[in-house]
Amino acid sequence: MIIVFKKNATEGQIKTLEGELRAIGLGIHESIGEHSRLIGLIGDVSRVDIDQLQANDFIEEIKRISEPYKKANRKFHPEDTVIEAAGVQIGGGSFTVMAGPCSVESEAQIVQVAKDVKASGAAFLRGGAFKPRTSPYSFQGLRGEGLHLLQTARSATGLPIVTEIMNTEDLPLFEDVDIIQVGARNMQNFELLKALGKLGKPVLLKRGLSATIEEWLMSAEYIMAGGNEKVILCERGIRTFETSMRNTLDISAVPMVKAKSHLPVVVDPSHAAGIAWMVEPLAMAAIAAGADGLMIEVHNDPKHALSDGAQSLTPARFDELMTKIRPTVEFFGKKIG
Ligand code: PEP
Ligand code: MN
Repeated sequence: MIIVFKKNATEGQIKTLEGELRAIGLGIHESIGEHSRLIGLIGDVSRVDIDQLQANDFIEEIKRISEPYKKANRKFHPEDTVIEAAGVQIGGGSFTVMAGPCSVESEAQIVQVAKDVKASGAAFLRGGAFKPRTSPYSFQGLRGEGLHLLQTARSATGLPIVTEIMNTEDLPLFEDVDIIQVGARNMQNFELLKALGKLGKPVLLKRGLSATIEEWLMSAEYIMAGGNEKVILCERGIRTFETSMRNTLDISAVPMVKAKSHLPVVVDPSHAAGIAWMVEPLAMAAIAAGADGLMIEVHNDPKHALSDGAQSLTPARFDELMTKIRPTVEFFGKKIG
C-alpha cells in the first residue's frame, strides 16, 4: 500500500502517521522526490483501515500494490535509484561499463586487462575468482588468491572491482570488494540473498537462466528486505528454444524491469550471446532499450582463456566498442561515467 501526501503536508503530520502505522507492526519505506512525497507500507496491510486514513486531509491518495515485491517496486520509489559504489554513480543519467575477464587467471593477466579497460573508459573491473562452472572438471577459479589479484589490479589502476560470490561462508573474503556479484545460478539462493541484505555493499544481481521478471525482482526484494537497498539488476540472457546463441538476450526485459522497478539495470551481452562478434550489436540494443550500463568480458588472449574465451573481446576490440557506443549512449541522454 502506498500513501501519497499532499504538497502542504507537514513533517509533523507525516511523522505522527508513520508512528501510528509502525505501532500496528508495519514497515515504512519513505520516498521523497522532486514532485511528490510518499510512503510505502510493508507487511500485513489488512489491518489498515483505508476509510480512517482517508479522513486525514494531508493525504492525497492511497493505492494498493498488487505486486509481491515492495521495496524494489517503482510504485514505492517513483524516481530512478542511483547507487554509489566506490565513488562511482550507477543509474540516473550515468552509463556504467564494467569490463574484464571471465576468470582471474594470473597477476599479469588481470593487471594488464585492468589497465586496458580503464584506458578505454570502463568504470569497474570485473573478474571471477569463484567460478560457477557447469562441469566439475572445468577451471573453478583461483578463489581467495583471485580476490587478492583483483585487489592488486585495483591498486595498480584505481578501478573498483566487481566479483562473484557463490556461498555465505566466503562472505568475510568479500569485505574489500566494491560490488558483490550474484550469478545467474545463485539468483534464488535465498540464504545468500538474505546474508547480502545485511551488508551495506552494492550487489549486482544477475537474472537466473529461466527466471521470470517477477522472480528476479523478488530476489532483489530479499536483499532489500534485509536493509540493503543497493541492488543493481543485470540481464544476461535467458534460456529459450533457440540454440544458435548461448542464451537469448531478453532485451524486452530492460524497459519492462525499468517500468516495474526503480533499480538500475545493466546488460551483459557477453553471457547472453556466448559469441564475441555479437557483443557489440547487443550492447547497442541494450543502450537503446534504456540500460544503465554494460558488463562485458575482455581477455588479453581469448584463445587461451581458462573460461568463456569464445565470448571475450580483446582489449583492442573492446576499445573500438567503447568508441562506437559513446555517441549512442549520449543520443539516449546518458553519459559514460
Ligand atoms: C560471469 O559473470 O562470469 C558469470 C558466470 O555470469 P552468469 O552468472 O551470468 O552466468
Ligand atoms: Mn563468464
